[in-house]
Amino acid sequence: MTKIIDGKKLSAAVVESLAEETRDFAAEFDLVPGLAVVLVGEDPASQVYVRNKVRQATAAGMRSIEHRLPADAAQEQLNSLIETLNQDPEIHGILVQLPLPAHLSEPEIIQLIAAEKDVDGFHPLNVGALASGTGELIPCTPLGCMLMLQQVHGDLSGLHAVVIGRSNIVGKPMAQLLLQANCTITVVHSRTRDIEAVCREADIVIAAVGRPEMVKSSWIKPGATVIDVGINAVEREGKRKLVGDVDFQSVSSVAGSISPVPGGVGPMTIACLLKNTLKAARLQQPH
Ligand code: NDP
Repeated sequence: MTKIIDGKKLSAAVVESLAEETRDFAAEFDLVPGLAVVLVGEDPASQVYVRNKVRQATAAGMRSIEHRLPADAAQEQLNSLIETLNQDPEIHGILVQLPLPAHLSEPEIIQLIAAEKDVDGFHPLNVGALASGTGELIPCTPLGCMLMLQQVHGDLSGLHAVVIGRSNIVGKPMAQLLLQANCTITVVHSRTRDIEAVCREADIVIAAVGRPEMVKSSWIKPGATVIDVGINAVEREGKRKLVGDVDFQSVSSVAGSISPVPGGVGPMTIACLLKNTLKAARLQQPH
C-alpha cells in the first residue's frame, strides 16, 4: 500500500523537539533565538507564508518579529532595514519573503543579509559552503525534503534520485544534498529530452517545477518515492484549490511513498527555517 508522507505530522515532531532545544539554548546562553521576517507588499500567498512562519517560530519558543514595507518601498529603504537587522544582537536569523516586487533586486538583498544570519541559505557564501560539503545554513525546502526521505528510506546510499527543476532555491541545493547522501543524481529541466523516461528510472523523484499536476503515473517506477514541492493555485469546479506538481491521484496508485500538497513539503520548509534559526543563534555565540 502507498505510504503518504505526512509533512504536518513530521514537522510537528521537528518543532516539538526544537522547542526543547531552544529551551536548553536559552538556559545556556540566557538568550532567546530571534527571527526577523521581512515582507514587502501585499501578496496574499506571501502574507500567509509569513504568518505561518511567525506563528511556528513562537510555538518553538523563539522570538519572531515581522517587518512590513509597502509594495512601492525603495531599494534603499529595504537595504537600510537589512543593515539594521544585521547589526541587531537580538536577531539571529533574517528572512526576506520572496518574490520581491519587480523594482527591487533580489540578488542585492540576498548578498546584503549577513551570511551568519541567512536562515534561507541563499547567500553566495552559504551556497558555496553547501557545494563544498561544509554547509551549515542549508536552504529550508530541500532540507525538509531530505528529512522526509530519511524517514522513508533511512540510508539513501546508492539510490537513483531525479530532481525536476534547477532553481537556486530548490532544484540545485536539493541535488547537492542528495549527492552528499550518496545518491546517484539526475537533474532535469525545461530543455531535457524525454523527462518521462528519465523519471521512470528513478527510485526517488523530487518535483520542483511550478506546473500543476505535470508528473503522471506513467512517469513513476512502481514503488518509487515521490516528493512534491510544487504549490500551484488552480480553479477546480469553481473553487480555488492548491495542487502540487504531481498528479496525486494517479501517481499515488503507483508510488511506494508520496508527499501530498498541501500538508507535505510546505510545513517541513517552515520547520527547517526554525532549525536554521536555532543553528544560526548557536553559530553566533562565542565558542
Ligand atoms: P522556478 O520557476 O524557479 O524553477 C522551476 C524549474 O522547473 C526550472 O528549473 C525550470 O526549468 C523547470 N521547468 C519548468 N517547466 C518545466 C517543464 N515543462 N519540464 C521540465 N522542467 C520544467 O521554481 P522554484 O524552484 O522556485 O519552485 C518550484 C515549485 O515549488 C513552485 O510551484 C513553487 O511554488 C514551489 N515551492 C514550494 C516551496 C514549499 O515550501 N513547498 C518552497 C519553494 C518553492 P528551466 O531552468 O529550464 O527554466
